[in-house]
Amino acid sequence: MGIRARLRVWAQLTRPVHPETERVLRERWAQLPEAVHTPAQLLGRHAVGCEGTHGVFPKCNLTCTPCYHSADANKVRVDGEHTVAEVDAQMAYFRQHRGPYAHAQLIGGEVSLLAPDDHAATLLRMRAHGREPMSMTHGDFDADYLRALVHDDRGRLRLTRVSFAAHFDSLMRGRRGAVRPRTEAELNPFRQRFVQMFRDLRAETGLRYYLAHNMTVTPANLGQVTETVRAVLPMGYSMLSFQPAAHVGDSRRWREDYRQVSIDSVWAAVEEALGQRIPWEGLQFGDPRCNRTAWGFLAGNRWVPVLDPDDARDLAARDRFLDHFGGVAFTGTPPALLAVKIARVLRRRPGDAGVALRWAARTVRRAGGLRRLIGAGARGRVRPMTFEVHSFMDAAQVAPAWELMQRGVSAEDPELRATQERLAACSYTMAHPETGRLVPACAQHSVLDLEENAGLRRLLPLTVVG
Ligand code: SF4
Repeated sequence: MGIRARLRVWAQLTRPVHPETERVLRERWAQLPEAVHTPAQLLGRHAVGCEGTHGVFPKCNLTCTPCYHSADANKVRVDGEHTVAEVDAQMAYFRQHRGPYAHAQLIGGEVSLLAPDDHAATLLRMRAHGREPMSMTHGDFDADYLRALVHDDRGRLRLTRVSFAAHFDSLMRGRRGAVRPRTEAELNPFRQRFVQMFRDLRAETGLRYYLAHNMTVTPANLGQVTETVRAVLPMGYSMLSFQPAAHVGDSRRWREDYRQVSIDSVWAAVEEALGQRIPWEGLQFGDPRCNRTAWGFLAGNRWVPVLDPDDARDLAARDRFLDHFGGVAFTGTPPALLAVKIARVLRRRPGDAGVALRWAARTVRRAGGLRRLIGAGARGRVRPMTFEVHSFMDAAQVAPAWELMQRGVSAEDPELRATQERLAACSYTMAHPETGRLVPACAQHSVLDLEENAGLRRLLPLTVVG
């Protein structure tokens, strides 16, 4: 290859934002409802949103009340070959229609029911399509499973980094050692044990990991959110995520009126646990009625937000960031390559360096000052911590709203109209290459799962008659 050709390749490789990303972000922004075209909006400016798998392994070996899977889910065999092929097709569709990079959840029923080789092969297919995968689990598996997942048959690490979202709450039944927990506190040893498996393997192999803790919230456990947050914060998770329950999935497992638990009530319980406000208003994924997220880090006992929405200088820094760095893949890009990409932006926008430094100085002050931050770091007490609440919608609203949307009809009923607005701004999408559609997860679970799982039950029966 000649020098010119090499320079061209280098220039393309170090482009801050891939041209396809620029295109899909523009398209996403144009599709969003006007109400969410706010300065805080990340969809269409920095990211296309999260992605998830469907129709792969709906079976689970625990039972939850509620469970968002349809009644047929547990009548479907877990089949590695089917999972790898389906996930491959779904991720290829995402790659084609949502650009070269996104976060995607490997989600179905329980991911650890996949054989470790099949689980690993699926994660590697997701990465091959530019997706940063996160496996969703109930966390009730052993260190041997994790060890087999990340190693190949010659004992080498085939996955050097993994991400898991582990679901723990007292609404789950059947966990080994906590078959019918009566309180959230009973699950704390299991929450801790889950993190410890990863710590041990990291010490042994250098495996890198990201762990999120998920909790479904209903009227039955809302009052225990605060104490659970206090207990889980020091354990080593990097995200605490809460899902107020919705009336979706298997109606035999609905026990309470879930609408009593609002996104605000869960957020207030998390703030009570930390004894401080957790500001989320500065950055938003999609519609604020669906979700809220606050990014920050723990420094000793203090949680420090990366953005203070009450500080105009922080908001100005955010605006510059989204205008000039929006679409840059900060996670998943090798550090040296990322540094060159950032340098290329700064060459055109040299003033951003000063803005970033002043923002960093304010963040250090929020953490109690440099000396305190360094001290906490030296004691290993500085680490990222994100809080999130994601409030899925009831099938009774989603089904009619989605049906009207498919016919291009705007609902007149205010509640259905609001549901349509949320679906149009959805930040969590599933791919249907067979019909050429991208579908909000609410529509997937409220509408499409029913037929899909009925079909899977025939395709992958539990008992194979031979
Ligand atoms: S539409 Fe449903 S899946 Fe999409 S962001 Fe809103 S609550 Fe989440």
